[in-house]
Amino acid sequence: FAGGGAEFVKGVVAMSGLPDGDRLEVCFAGRSNVGKSSLINALTNRKGLARASNTPGRTQEINFFTLEETHYLVDLPGYGYANAPLPIVERWQRLLKQYLSGRQNLRRAFVLIDARHGAKAVDEEIMSLLDSSAVTFQCVMTKADKVKEADRERSIEATRKALARHPAAFPEIIMTSSEKGDGIETLRAVIASLE
Ligand code: GDP
Repeated sequence: FAGGGAEFVKGVVAMSGLPDGDRLEVCFAGRSNVGKSSLINALTNRKGLARASNTPGRTQEINFFTLEETHYLVDLPGYGYANAPLPIVERWQRLLKQYLSGRQNLRRAFVLIDARHGAKAVDEEIMSLLDSSAVTFQCVMTKADKVKEADRERSIEATRKALARHPAAFPEIIMTSSEKGDGIETLRAVIASLE
């Protein structure tokens, strides 16, 4: 599993636009700027692949990519846009809920957390939504290269504590750096192991 075969499929704004669920699927969620695009690009060896989802207009879409001909990789819009107009936030939350609770082929959500900052209130919100949608989620710490070795352990421990409150949380936390490549192989192996 080398992360190849990654192509952009489509951006979806309504449930009717979802591609057929004929492949296993994983999704990625995280606050804007957490390093989600960089991680997806590192995972797929495609510089610029996930940039599309960061451009204005794309940020309210659920973006589908193929991965290895066998999977869909789904980029959920970055949350934590405090300034977005309420109707847009509400429409997005409705779509997100519908997607998470209705997607049969969705095997796991990866919730990205900045290793320097830990889980914030908005991360807690998405984790609670994943709990209530019964979607197993796994935390992926990002930007490991920006924290010292000792602080990495502390960061993981703090996240582990936060996970104790979430029934849908998968216990293992993956520490990654898209810059240095740490944890990318581990993440690929986890995705490849899902059935
Ligand atoms: P997104 O908004 O979550 O998609 O975040 P981006 O992937 O665009 O990254 C946000 C910023 O963090 C950019 O300036 C990236 O270069 C930087 N960044 C992302 N991942 C890493 C990483 O692993 N290490 C370091 N040092 N910087 C990173």
